[in-house]
Amino acid sequence: MTELIFPTFADVEAASARIAPYLNRTPVLTSRTADSLAGCQIFFKCENYQRMGAFKFRGALNALLQFNDAQKAAGVVAFSSGNHAQAIALAAKILGIPATIIMPHDAPAAKVAATRGYGGKVVEYNRYSEDREQIGREIAQREGLTLIPPYDHADIIAGQGTAAKELFEEVGELDALFVPLGGGGLLAGSALAAATLSPGCKVYGVEPEAGNDGQQSLRLGEIVHIETPKTIADGAQTQHLGQLTFPIIAKHVTDIHTAQDIALVDAMRFFAERMKIVVEPTGCLGFAAALQQTESLRGKRIGVIISGGNVDISKFAGWMQ
Ligand SMILES: *Cc1c(COP(=O)(O)O)cnc(C)c1O
Repeated sequence: MTELIFPTFADVEAASARIAPYLNRTPVLTSRTADSLAGCQIFFKCENYQRMGAFKFRGALNALLQFNDAQKAAGVVAFSSGNHAQAIALAAKILGIPATIIMPHDAPAAKVAATRGYGGKVVEYNRYSEDREQIGREIAQREGLTLIPPYDHADIIAGQGTAAKELFEEVGELDALFVPLGGGGLLAGSALAAATLSPGCKVYGVEPEAGNDGQQSLRLGEIVHIETPKTIADGAQTQHLGQLTFPIIAKHVTDIHTAQDIALVDAMRFFAERMKIVVEPTGCLGFAAALQQTESLRGKRIGVIISGGNVDISKFAGWMQ
């Protein structure tokens, strides 16, 4: 096995400088109603307002900006249930790099359409029977493309950490930070940012209850694999943490919480009704978990990462009824 190279906070800082010219500086929103519901002061970092609608644009840009000329000319291949695909497709389009995206046959229509709209070539696979990582590796080898995985890559982790870095720079140190968790790129990057910029901050990952492999992994001390979980949080339907993300999470993350789909719908409704923002189910994980921890959070200053806002609007309407 090749030696693993772990990203550090210096890589998050370098990523931040590298990608800044291309990013939206996303707002940090507050809500008195949210504060009184949770019994603490909440700062929401709104990556639903990031370009392509999620934080994944950060990692994708950070990875593609470091391609050499041969890699740029040949192109990039990525596999994703949605937002990573769109992020790679958009970043590749901006940088003039050809992109091939491997997506599940049942990915949300809006996400497939957006990926195609950004100029990505879409290859479909069955997420319940086929191994996307193997398909990705085969296409990469056959066509000489560079494979950029959705979370287990140092440049991706460092890029994703820039959202939490911006949050701490804007609001100062926090007592706790709640981060949606799939494969752990966002959580690992956020934890690196917190460890340097707000060392006393407790960092929590939040998974869908149906897919709590991260929670099991943290408690067992090794990576636990599960079947693809059935949840509305399609950005967190991962089967396991990564070789890079797990050790960073094990070192820096206080605990991993879970949220049921029904709690995600409640949070989605709150965001739409009270804060006038559209958040996808996965983006609601952090707030849903914070609402379950009101005892221990009383009077504290906490950060919640709203990770994305890409949701099929007809599904959204269905959940709101
Ligand atoms: C990908 C994604 C996540 C999970 O990120 P990981 O880095 O895989 O843990 C959370 N929310 C949204 C909106 C996503 O697209």
